[in-house]
Amino acid sequence: MIEVRNLWHIYEGRKIALRDVSLTIENEILALVGPNGSGKTTLAKHLNGLLKPTKGEIIVDGINTKEASVAELSRIVGYVFQNPEHMFFEENVFKEVAFGPKNLGLSKEEIEERVRWALKSVNLEGYEDRSPYSLSGGEKQRLAIACVLAMKPKYLILDEPTTGLDEKSAESVKEVIRKLRREGHGIMLITHDMELVLELAERVVLLYDGTKVFDGSVDEFFRLNLRNYDLEKPELLRISESLGIGLVRSVDEFVNSLLERVR
Ligand code: ADP
Repeated sequence: MIEVRNLWHIYEGRKIALRDVSLTIENEILALVGPNGSGKTTLAKHLNGLLKPTKGEIIVDGINTKEASVAELSRIVGYVFQNPEHMFFEENVFKEVAFGPKNLGLSKEEIEERVRWALKSVNLEGYEDRSPYSLSGGEKQRLAIACVLAMKPKYLILDEPTTGLDEKSAESVKEVIRKLRREGHGIMLITHDMELVLELAERVVLLYDGTKVFDGSVDEFFRLNLRNYDLEKPELLRISESLGIGLVRSVDEFVNSLLERVR
């Protein structure tokens, strides 16, 4: 479990980015949402030690982040940044994924085994010799996830994993996220994409101006007046509510609910 206890973060220049935020993350898909500038990235960077609290503390599986290095923490909490193509620098996919495990000083066999496992987890088997730059948007995002997975972290932070992807690519990334959840990872999705929250999240934490203003189920979250937080309800939900159908998570569910009513 990751516990964030009364976290404050004040940047130099005195910008208060987080105010007394507390939350926990377990084996679940937690969506961390809020408009631009609300403090999502600042919070996420505390979870693997990239930032240290101004006040308060973070405990990751019993380890206080104040007492651990980023290298140690990144073996427990993997961070997949937005715009992953900026991360790639190797000539092929195999070397890209092998980079992290190599730095851990693992044997050649173990590195190979981790790379194959990570590529399989993100459905990129057979891509070993491809240049990272030749991949599609969704494949690049999945490769970035594989690079982090190869460190075998228990928790994953995914920053806007589907932003800028076409529908098909976004679907391939969502499929991978569902799979990782089934395999027992705790996942924090940082996003302002409300469709993604509706489809994938099990719990939602809403930040607004550095303050946690909501922490609860997806059902409860979508009952909030999201306009107050500069967020929009997903189209699917607006349509289903106008027809008197409750919360639906996908178009399939929506169609099934409609058919139920007709029957
Ligand atoms: P989000 O990820 O929700 O868009 P951020 O965590 O990036 O929000 O930013 C929260 C607030 O902190 C914003 O007002 C932002 O301008 C400010 N901020 C972020 N990084 C820095 C920094 N390095 N120095 C000063 N202020 C920063």
